[in-house]
Amino acid sequence: MKEYSRYLERAAGITQRERKVLPPEHREHKTMKAMVLENVSPIENKPLKLVELPQPVPGRGQILVRVSACGVCHTELDEIEGRVPPSTFPMILGHEIVGRVEGVGLGATKFKRGDRVGIAWINWACGKCSFCLNGEENLCEAAKWTGKDAYGGYAEYTVVSEDFAYTIPGRFSDVKAAPLLCAGVIGYRALRLSGMEDGKVLGLYGFGASAHIVIQVARYKYPNAKVFVFTRPHQREHQELARKLGADWIGATGDTPPEKLNCAIDFTPVGEPVREALRNLQKGGRVVVNAIRKTTPIPELHYTEHLWYEKELKSVANVTRRDAQEFLPLAAQIPIVPETQEFRLEDANQALILLKEGKIQGAAVLRMAEATKD
Ligand SMILES: [Zn+2]
Ligand SMILES: [Zn+2]
Repeated sequence: MKEYSRYLERAAGITQRERKVLPPEHREHKTMKAMVLENVSPIENKPLKLVELPQPVPGRGQILVRVSACGVCHTELDEIEGRVPPSTFPMILGHEIVGRVEGVGLGATKFKRGDRVGIAWINWACGKCSFCLNGEENLCEAAKWTGKDAYGGYAEYTVVSEDFAYTIPGRFSDVKAAPLLCAGVIGYRALRLSGMEDGKVLGLYGFGASAHIVIQVARYKYPNAKVFVFTRPHQREHQELARKLGADWIGATGDTPPEKLNCAIDFTPVGEPVREALRNLQKGGRVVVNAIRKTTPIPELHYTEHLWYEKELKSVANVTRRDAQEFLPLAAQIPIVPETQEFRLEDANQALILLKEGKIQGAAVLRMAEATKD
């Protein structure tokens, strides 16, 4: 308990002196429930432990958020299993956070108590390096990531700089808004980077949380485009969802679609679909890989078959605040209908095991007691 307490104070950047001038509700430690990761481990060992911790306190420029829903992202599996380890342990994972402002730190003016906000993967960036100055804060060397370098949303409360919180459009419930904050935002970024235009053919490899949102964006922005979806052969329910959301053709990874792809996005955690997407790509087309890590290597590429004719291969890394600020209003305008599967906070291990097995329809969301749902 002491160890967590010290860490939380450090994470909040608050000194004892500052605590004394805080509003009375933040001067004393209150507690909260959280699922914490203490060590890297296979998810099958259920490494997330339910613990009681001191509530964080909003530091200078920060807000205290009472979490009502937190999406479950594949990146959590990469953190838990050590492919993208948290920068410190214990860590509270979770970066698709929806909640309400319950406290405001010194100097924070953008939100007031009761406002509903979202928090995404980007937790902080330096604002001074060449990447930040160029609008590429997703590449900032000093950036901090929610649930990896700063405590995230697998908890009843969290704190964040007010500059890295977003207003959630009113049409989404807390549960439905959660997956928009990573699956949605990064999918939107990947679609933009793919160079997609109306009338072209888009291929989506993998049909989980992100892809099922991207197809809705693509259908809205590019009404005359064709969207082809590739899943693992046994994923009948994923294929059914793709059909419901307007896919023009659905097949298994390894299949050859009826037309070449101008743009393709690979959402899978494995290497093979990257080569498959390049094989099915039209001349001058582009494949975007939307994954933070791959659990298996990309098989050997043959220059003539996979890359010649000006084919391009590009990865997508992280998100910027601009991605979130652009995507959230667009999601409301379309409107995106996220498919969600709810779990209790204490069942986070189970949600992640199902995610690893490819058995989640749409997006898994941890729902706290007071969350709004449709
Ligand atoms: Zn994510
Ligand atoms: Zn920077």
